[in-house]
Amino acid sequence: MFYTLSAFIILAGASPPADFSTTNTPWAAIPLANCEATLAQAQLEDYVRLNRGQIKRLRLSGHKDMYCHVPQAVRYRTGPGSIRYSSYLLLSCRMAAAVAQFEILAQQTAKDVFGNNARITDIRMLGAYRCRRLRDAKHRQSEHSFGNALDVHSFHVSDFGLVDVKTHWGPQSTRKGQAAHTFLHALIHRLRRAHVFTTLLTPDFNEAHRNHFHFDCRIYKQSSGSAGGIGTLLNMTLDMGRIPLPPPMERVP
Ligand SMILES: [Zn+2]
Repeated sequence: MFYTLSAFIILAGASPPADFSTTNTPWAAIPLANCEATLAQAQLEDYVRLNRGQIKRLRLSGHKDMYCHVPQAVRYRTGPGSIRYSSYLLLSCRMAAAVAQFEILAQQTAKDVFGNNARITDIRMLGAYRCRRLRDAKHRQSEHSFGNALDVHSFHVSDFGLVDVKTHWGPQSTRKGQAAHTFLHALIHRLRRAHVFTTLLTPDFNEAHRNHFHFDCRIYKQSSGSAGGIGTLLNMTLDMGRIPLPPPMERVP
């Protein structure tokens, strides 16, 4: 549980950076107190920290005051599970630590389901940092807009083959298909139990997610809380590890 304890410790009283919009999703901009230490605890060694000048700040099309940017940007290269990704992985530091933990649990799950020699070699992803709004909420940005999310389409597993979210999430008629199905469900169960991400969406969530898993590290407000501002959010998120995850229907990414 090293990640849960460390990654949610944030700078109490810190202000969000002033030069990009945080009004719609302020939690995305809340930095970790010590990015490098968090990544070391998450066993991520092969990465590059990027400064603001190296990341293009994008304006969300059609919204003159909404910008996309990656706080504490990390170019994620090779994680502790030695998995290759189908494209460049630009993530917030918070999300990079979560993806590193995800790799470890994914490899353990592959071994459990497919046998000791099985290993995930590749993940095909549909995107990490992408400048876009939520599908159903015109004035709110997706966590992808802050490098705080990852969409996973499929896994290539040595000694087995392809495990595809769209194909294998539902019931299967073959033994091989059933093994892939078991892997996907066991992985989601394990990630939920370990609180690796704060949001996990599967094809069960809606039609838009029929072919991928969406993972993100959004920090949720407590459901009973007042609207609050950034200060309220900071106070509430200090104990984020103990706040139960909201049911998925509260979230429309
Ligand atoms: Zn997504």
